[in-house]
Amino acid sequence: MKIKFLGAVESVTGSCHLIEVNDKKILLDCGQFQGKKEIEQLNYKDFEFAPGDIDYLLLSHAHIDHSGRIPLLVKKGFKGKIFCSKPTYDLCEIMLRDSGHIHEVEAEWKNRKAERAGREKVEPLYTESDAEESFKYFEPLLYEQLTEIDENLTVRFNDAGHILGSAIIEIWIKEGEETTKLVFSGDLGMKDKPILKDPTIIEKADYLIIESTYGNRLHEKIGERIDILANIILKTVRRGGTVVIPSFAVGRTQEIIYELNQYYDGNKKIQSELAQIPVYIDSPLATKATEVFKKNAHVFDEEAREYIMIGDNPLEFENLHFTQSAEESKALNTSDEPKIIISASGMCDAGRIKHHLKHNLWKKKSSVIFVGYQAEGTLGRRIRDGEKAVKIFGEEIQINAEIYSVEGFSGHADKNGLLDWLSGFKEGPKQVFIVHGEDDSKKEFALEINNKLGLDCVIPLPGKEYDLISENFSENQVTAKEDKNINIEKDKKVDGKCLQPASKEKIDELLNEIVKLKELFQDSLLLTEESLNNNINVEDFNIINNKILEIEKNIVNLTMLSGK
Ligand SMILES: [Zn+2]
Repeated sequence: MKIKFLGAVESVTGSCHLIEVNDKKILLDCGQFQGKKEIEQLNYKDFEFAPGDIDYLLLSHAHIDHSGRIPLLVKKGFKGKIFCSKPTYDLCEIMLRDSGHIHEVEAEWKNRKAERAGREKVEPLYTESDAEESFKYFEPLLYEQLTEIDENLTVRFNDAGHILGSAIIEIWIKEGEETTKLVFSGDLGMKDKPILKDPTIIEKADYLIIESTYGNRLHEKIGERIDILANIILKTVRRGGTVVIPSFAVGRTQEIIYELNQYYDGNKKIQSELAQIPVYIDSPLATKATEVFKKNAHVFDEEAREYIMIGDNPLEFENLHFTQSAEESKALNTSDEPKIIISASGMCDAGRIKHHLKHNLWKKKSSVIFVGYQAEGTLGRRIRDGEKAVKIFGEEIQINAEIYSVEGFSGHADKNGLLDWLSGFKEGPKQVFIVHGEDDSKKEFALEINNKLGLDCVIPLPGKEYDLISENFSENQVTAKEDKNINIEKDKKVDGKCLQPASKEKIDELLNEIVKLKELFQDSLLLTEESLNNNINVEDFNIINNKILEIEKNIVNLTMLSGK
């Protein structure tokens, strides 16, 4: 089995790894490069493989730096299958369309300039309709569902707690009589993150590919993040300013809505003052993503489900507005009312956020709060790093507003979170490949893993092919202490636990539960029909629907297992 690391190697973005085994080619992610111009230029380079030769794409999550080149892959001839979780598919539907649209607009803009300068026209990387075309190759799976893709390849997607639908992918690959288990962490979330469950603990792997975005850093003040945010909001609004929060449309925006909602509920004294402040979600994508969240409430964590159970929608509160049209968006900057504007993109490179920064950065009374990772070279990074002025739409804008960075909202686990997750392995991995981090982060994290957990780490070189079976990794290894290397006996079998046939009693028990729930469900439907005018049973409907989905998921799992 050979593996090549083609993206998220020299930088954080463009996640893409190629596995070649038996006569199959499998891609892990197909992400877009984001950040500096030179990095974005990489998107236009040919793929380092023939897209038509790829059999399967296993997609960890919907973020564009993991999924953004899928429409291009399809445009260039991919005809295989794309596996991901169901919420990831739902998010890709809106995010890849949006991405296609952005590429079209960018190309148009470049072409207008090119025409004036007598230069040749450019093609968009891909269009909205290319994105549309790619959806027919998606095959969404349930979390924890063991899926035999072909006789030599079995996969399971587990909640990674990073964004809705994000997955840690377990991959069992059979070569002759031997089975090797590869685990791809995708991006790992923080524990106790709002809305989402904690990253699933994986107990066994022969090889692991892990992200390292925060591999050498610790998140500070996680518990206080919402207090810090609320204090900045109050301070700014009391002096008549506007709070601008650049935020990823998908994930971060919903978390902030959720946490503000929770904060309002828990702080009765200032609740009325806070409730006066209008919160505008000014991103059509964020609005659509919020709908996808509501549709996938069955994967929410306990706390968020409890909200739903008591009939409180955790993603709605008084004075929360979703703006739609460009006119509504512009109107936010012509009015002087103190407010909160949450807008995308999160790193300020594109989207409506640029207008809000242009109108607020120069104002002393306004504040800009960064709540997410800012990649090198992005406008967000430059503002956060303290530049005195920046160019936006060709205009020099002084930075007089107060600039804050509230890190506790990160979507990524920090160094301790990653180590904690790694310590969940009971067997292996015998080799850890560290990707998706800036150079220092990868190196320091590798040493940390080697030192604390005694695992061998490799920071893969871009484009180099690693033969997992015969490779001598020592030349590339990052080792803290030689004697700490541990040698784990390779178990050729798939985890015993997951392939054990489920007991018939367990399946019967679950089927009984389904029957009971269906009765409840029917009652609820009847009631809804009776009281159609006052809509009282929509929440009940959702709760029961989610429960049925959950049980169905378990049955699918157990049935899959007993079939083995
Ligand atoms: Zn991500």
